[in-house]
Amino acid sequence: MSKNPLPAQPFTWVLAETEHCNKCGFCLPACPTYRISGQELHSPRGRIAMVEAAAREELPDLSGMEEALEFCVGCRACEPACPSGVHYERILEAGRTYLIRRGSTAFRGALASRSALYLTKHPKALRQIGRLGRRLSRIVPDVGIGSDFLGMLPKTRDTSAIRPVNTNLPATPMSPRVAFFSGCVMDSMFADENLAARNLLEAAGYSVEVVLGQSCCGAIHLHSGEIESTKALAKANIVAFEREHWAWIANAAGGCGAMLQEYPELLADESDWVQRAEAFSSRVRDFSTLLLEPTASPLAFRGNGSRIVLQNSCHLANVQRAGQDPIRLLRQVEGDTLVSFQDQEMCCGSGGLYNINHRTWAQAILDDKMGKVAVKTPDRILVNNPGCQLQMQSGVSRHQEVRASVEHVATYLWRCHLAARSSQSRRDA
Ligand code: SF4
Ligand code: SF4
Repeated sequence: MSKNPLPAQPFTWVLAETEHCNKCGFCLPACPTYRISGQELHSPRGRIAMVEAAAREELPDLSGMEEALEFCVGCRACEPACPSGVHYERILEAGRTYLIRRGSTAFRGALASRSALYLTKHPKALRQIGRLGRRLSRIVPDVGIGSDFLGMLPKTRDTSAIRPVNTNLPATPMSPRVAFFSGCVMDSMFADENLAARNLLEAAGYSVEVVLGQSCCGAIHLHSGEIESTKALAKANIVAFEREHWAWIANAAGGCGAMLQEYPELLADESDWVQRAEAFSSRVRDFSTLLLEPTASPLAFRGNGSRIVLQNSCHLANVQRAGQDPIRLLRQVEGDTLVSFQDQEMCCGSGGLYNINHRTWAQAILDDKMGKVAVKTPDRILVNNPGCQLQMQSGVSRHQEVRASVEHVATYLWRCHLAARSSQSRRDA
């Protein structure tokens, strides 16, 4: 670690959180990095112990702590696994912030990931870089972050080109109003997935509006230890979404949704903002959750005899605790079979920018996942987060034995809904 240019600020407050950890180890089997390395240093318990020791000023050498926190993928599977309710994320962020203040550059990541941070604030540039990345992947064998990964970047298009939502149910004054959070990467590179989620919500009877002035959710800034820019992004979103009253704030990216729901924690020490953050976050829901609301019109879905597996977003499952909602919807698809696979709740190794910054670890986690997917011979792998979509596509290209397409839950469900509607029309005719 580089020499410390700044005095570390005391973070003894974190001891109130670490003392909830009784070192039982129940979280260890849920942790993907512990499963890969088998080392305590790469487990939640080991990481918590490191932060605790640093807060007690019992760590003369911080390099072990730096390694422990740097290689955490941030999936937060340790939180629901913990019987003592330890809030691991709080400890992780406190530890990372402490190290950064001590001069650590471990969390800045590779040049590519720093560029990605910048681009989250510039959607047009993000789209252009996406196009460039795909071209580069075809002409340069390896550009340091993996040409296979660049080749997975989806086709981008300007969101202004998105066709209007087309459903059979026109909004009425009684339709619950939903503000749609587009997200930076989703908006720039996964516009079709966002559109499918909006279409589904409209079909279920919601009146959906895309709110102007919204920005990146801030998740990857937070995971890179950039607290102040995360807060700035959060405040911009709160302002944008409090201009009018919407019953819900919907999104189609598990990682973004989790970040949006945690704005009150992020802004807890800012009295001017915390209530506004709570008013914002209490209305944030994944689109799949809203489709299951009692007030939503139930939708019919028709498949074509495919075997499907779901790689759920870790943050939808572990932070939003809504991982069962897409599963409930997918079970409603007539004609397709949702197949479970071993350790399907485990992270895919995407982790925001983790698969750029820690490629070897991310691929080891992914390879383990693909081996377990392969034995189920699916036709389709469904995801609900952009990073997972790219990571699973990369997994399919690395593992030729998996002959499946990768698709977002929203585009799959929308297609199945259109198929059900046209089959109903044929019956009615
Ligand atoms: S974080 Fe929770 S599950 Fe893990 S060792 Fe501590 S108390 Fe046990
Ligand atoms: S967030 Fe994920 S990788 Fe990090 S300690 Fe928890 S389970 Fe392990």
